[in-house]
Amino acid sequence: MKPRVAFFDFASCEGCQLAVINLENELLDLVSHIDIVNFREAMTEASDDYDIAFIEGSVTREADIPRLKKIRENAKLVVPIGACACTGGVNFRKNFYELGEIRNYVYGESAKYFDTFATRPVKAVIPVDFEIPGCPINPKEFLSVVKSLLIGRKPEIPNHPVCVECKLAGNVCMYDKGEVCLGAVTRAGCGAWCPSNGSGCEGCRGLVDEPNKNSEKEVLTKAGLTVEDAVQKFRIFAGYFEEVKK
Ligand code: SF4
Ligand code: SF4
Ligand code: SF4
Repeated sequence: MKPRVAFFDFASCEGCQLAVINLENELLDLVSHIDIVNFREAMTEASDDYDIAFIEGSVTREADIPRLKKIRENAKLVVPIGACACTGGVNFRKNFYELGEIRNYVYGESAKYFDTFATRPVKAVIPVDFEIPGCPINPKEFLSVVKSLLIGRKPEIPNHPVCVECKLAGNVCMYDKGEVCLGAVTRAGCGAWCPSNGSGCEGCRGLVDEPNKNSEKEVLTKAGLTVEDAVQKFRIFAGYFEEVKK
């Protein structure tokens, strides 16, 4: 019997689910190996009987907690996908401000109707089995994770920095252009998307397990930049790392 797979979304732009739907050439192959039983963005049928749950989005409301717990109870494997689900993503930025102030800024007079609390990633609420980082996820990496899960092998997500992929792509370093780039401490797997397209890495895939902080500091200092410059940039997608280090 094919494994039954479900997709769920919490606070997000739904771009990671879209990245899966956009796998046009591979989608037919994919559904010949799995049964997709729940995927609001792509189908109307919905079932609570599934083996693997892919979760997109961050947790931002009290009501999200019982919903997530229910998913954990139902699924054999829970896999958060994308920066929002893995590190809180862009939504985590609100945690650096006073919650009431942010709520009023966004919702104005209607603020009282919108329940919200400090953003957290999925793993801060329920145990997860694996994570696929990125904003959005790399569709090819998603496919390779699915293949690994189907054959019962632990999926492999790179644990080396984006700089490795960037060097392999033959890019001129962004620091030589006077810009900040977090590639030296950010987990690879995107093929150095941003530096290859003229922008510094903003850390959407989160930190490598053991970031070389001293080297990063040295590079920043040499470029006339500060650690604070880098931290500010990291807060765009991965502010959660600051919290877990507290
Ligand atoms: S990680 Fe990025 S693309 Fe994915 S849901 Fe969040 S904001 Fe959207
Ligand atoms: S710091 Fe950025 S631009 Fe420079 S090599 Fe690393 S990833 Fe590439
Ligand atoms: S280069 Fe950095 S910000 Fe850009 S996609 Fe890769 S990890 Fe994300």
